Amino acid sequence: MGSMLTDAIKGNISPGYCNICQQATLFRLHGDWHREQLRCVRCGSIARWRSLLYVLNQQIPQWQNMAIHESSPGGAVSGYLAIHANGYSSSHYFSDVKPGTMHNGHQCENLEALSFADESLDLFITQDVFEHLLHPERAFAEIARVLKSGGCHLFTIPWFGFERSRKRVEIHDGELVHVHPTEYHGNPVDPNGSLVITDWGQDLASEIHKHAGMSLQIITVKNRIRGIYGEGLNVFMSFKPN
Ligand SMILES: [Zn+2]
Repeated sequence: MGSMLTDAIKGNISPGYCNICQQATLFRLHGDWHREQLRCVRCGSIARWRSLLYVLNQQIPQWQNMAIHESSPGGAVSGYLAIHANGYSSSHYFSDVKPGTMHNGHQCENLEALSFADESLDLFITQDVFEHLLHPERAFAEIARVLKSGGCHLFTIPWFGFERSRKRVEIHDGELVHVHPTEYHGNPVDPNGSLVITDWGQDLASEIHKHAGMSLQIITVKNRIRGIYGEGLNVFMSFKPN
């Protein structure tokens, strides 16, 4: 890691405005992956979080008055949403805790079997969660169930839009079988990280429609002043029909 000056000379620091800490700032690249490593020097936010908030503000500007649930929150954007939305709640998944109950100060929810009533939420948020689910089709269906008509599932995932989706892990007779090299992502509530199950690809929209009856939009923002640029900054919005 170089100094601020050498990073500036190399073009790894750029001025702009951060939508999460809502002030003029510098964006500093800590590596070569802008999505995860282009950080606001003031609040530490990464490009993926700023991108999610940018799309939310643009597409659903009335979100602050909505019933929102976020599964597996983490980072500055989740904190921002919690402060600014009156109806925000969040949960984590713990495999050994009954869904709907509390554990270590967190509500426990299993996306594949949510404890929420039908049609009780306006907006459901997941950030880089759906690549880790063993039965994502059940989770898409569950989110559709708990959303009101016209409600939205706003999410991010690593997405390979030029390929078919593929399972890295398959279940054979109840056992996990690794059919492609094992990959883990960081998890704020599990030091072991989260195993990647699915590399999502071009068939994502048809999978969601098939299992949840929702229609998918994919929005890609490139906005240098807002510190939103680089590969993979897609934001996904599935809408439940009215
Ligand atoms: Zn910031």
